[in-house]
Amino acid sequence: MAKLNENYLNIKQSYLFSEIAKRVNDFCEANPNKKVIRLGIGDVTLPLGSLVIKALHGAVDEMSKAETFKGYGPEQGYDFLRNSIKDYYKRNGVEVEADEIFVSDGAKSDTGNITDMFSTDNVVLVPDPVYPVYVDTNIMNGRKIIYMDGTAENGFLPMPDENVKADIIYLCSPNNPTGAVYNKEQLKAWVDYANKNGAIILFDSAYECFVADPELPRSILSIEGAKTCCVEFCSLSKTAGFTGTRCGYTVVPKAIVKKTSDGGELSLNHMWNRRQTTKFNGVPYIIQKGAAAVFTVEGMEEAKAMIDTYRKNAKLISDTMDELDVKYTGGINSPYIWFECPFNMYSWNFFDKMLNDIQVVGTPGAGFGKNGDNYFRLTSFNNYENTKEAMERFKTLFK
Ligand SMILES: *Cc1c(COP(=O)(O)O)cnc(C)c1O
Repeated sequence: MAKLNENYLNIKQSYLFSEIAKRVNDFCEANPNKKVIRLGIGDVTLPLGSLVIKALHGAVDEMSKAETFKGYGPEQGYDFLRNSIKDYYKRNGVEVEADEIFVSDGAKSDTGNITDMFSTDNVVLVPDPVYPVYVDTNIMNGRKIIYMDGTAENGFLPMPDENVKADIIYLCSPNNPTGAVYNKEQLKAWVDYANKNGAIILFDSAYECFVADPELPRSILSIEGAKTCCVEFCSLSKTAGFTGTRCGYTVVPKAIVKKTSDGGELSLNHMWNRRQTTKFNGVPYIIQKGAAAVFTVEGMEEAKAMIDTYRKNAKLISDTMDELDVKYTGGINSPYIWFECPFNMYSWNFFDKMLNDIQVVGTPGAGFGKNGDNYFRLTSFNNYENTKEAMERFKTLFK
């Protein structure tokens, strides 16, 4: 008889966003005339930039002629895209080599798939609150997870603790859900901890484009010593509106080399290359052409204009929180505003209050871990008018 992977029994069954959708649908059915404003799910709303669209059309036309048609491409991504990502890093002051960059269908797949590279007896350290993918994918493999607390006291930026021995560490900065961003000194402390303990940091940089403050790092690879211990996951999803188009990339430095139990050596870059060439057949040529357009100087200008639109919404939300004296993180270098639930409420109760009283949907912090129990996440991905109306309604809760 086939035996199933029973680790799946250990994953929380109710997925956060399906519970939210259920409650919102129930409300809408009971109140068909009320306008609900959604500041919940982290999905973009603006269309793709004109340069991306032009590149996509051009690539579609290439597929229509035998001379320019493309079949299977390199599993790691076409050289034109790997090189433009390499140049993008260089413009931001970070040297990476093209064969350290692996193009993929997104950061969610890669942050999950990277678990293939590690033995199940590693101890995994994740922040709480956290993007649930890191936790669930490790539970699926039966790995032990320990949590580090993100709290108001540490600004939701947990720091290494020499008494805690971890082998694999997940960091996400700018953070989803808290919007908090590590500074250079803080990331240096993590890199030093990892190198000292032989650990590997899996750094999710999906929101790097939202970093407005030039003093804050957008890549952990800009930190001295990072190339021997850090893998970086990036995505065009939030950078350029590719959530439905699908393209990301992961940088696996060649300097990450670990001892094997028989005294040999294994390179993580070689392993990841081997995994991708075995289990993945590459991102569509058409999509890679669209992605390459994002990394041109003009393409980045277009992407920045989109991000500035979201930034304006984020400012509207954070200004409202300031006005109401509600404590929050994020909003400046991140599309998320993470705030303490007013009236000492539990986050699911506050969710229901927002829905029933003012018809604004957010995400209860409890869905991201126990430290989120009394926190709430709003996103800046809706349009300006809706965000403004949502904030006007939000203020009425305090009257
Ligand atoms: C949105 C998001 C991603 C991007 O995932 P894709 O699969 O590239 O769309 C990665 N990490 C975090 C924390 C995110 O919020």
